[in-house]
Amino acid sequence: MTKKASRARARLQVLDSPARDGALRDAPIRDGLAPSKQRLGRPSRAAAEAAVRTLIEWAGDDPAREGLLGTPDRVVRSFEEFFQGYETDPVELLQRTFDEIDGYDEMVVLKDIRFESHCEHHIAPIIGKAHIAYLPDHRVVGISKLARLVEVYAKRLQIQEKMTAQIANTLNEVLQPKGVAVVIEAAHQCMTTRGIHKPGVSMVTSSMLGAFRDDPTPRRELLAMIGTPGKGGLENV
Ligand SMILES: [Zn+2]
Repeated sequence: MTKKASRARARLQVLDSPARDGALRDAPIRDGLAPSKQRLGRPSRAAAEAAVRTLIEWAGDDPAREGLLGTPDRVVRSFEEFFQGYETDPVELLQRTFDEIDGYDEMVVLKDIRFESHCEHHIAPIIGKAHIAYLPDHRVVGISKLARLVEVYAKRLQIQEKMTAQIANTLNEVLQPKGVAVVIEAAHQCMTTRGIHKPGVSMVTSSMLGAFRDDPTPRRELLAMIGTPGKGGLENV
């Protein structure tokens, strides 16, 4: 057996045998999720907390000092909240659609959906708002689901461009509308609190599919409804 194959085999055995995992692996990984959705090999909470202690030491402080004793636990809980989007399948989320729309074929717009995300390069917050529009063909979805869709993708490690495309593509796939538009404006704390230190800058991304891409009329109509992205700033966010 090659070295590589034996390493892969060893890894498989670890996954197969919870008894040999020791304290660093929890099994089952997620209660209540179908086995196919369980994240194999997810580190345990104890391992995650140990990693936070390492980062505190790396920063130059003492994780055993009183003020920091509960910090690993709190950071891990925050991570659960920040990244809970991995627990939801966005396509499944949109499954309940409504077909009786009595011929409604005008634009549906949900604007100013506030979101909090984290950049996948620095795990620094990205805070902004998303605007979603679609031109229904034969199916609509509840508006709270549109907001949830933003949240499911925001609560992952992201880059804004990818998140914009993911929201648009998922809506397009499930609703099969005549067009989908997603516009996102956001401030990236990895730009304001580190690196180039430029506060007050917001990034605008958009994904236009179907009629919004091919026809300037609905695109203009949409931009009139949401205002020029980036112009109003993000002070209300
Ligand atoms: Zn970043």
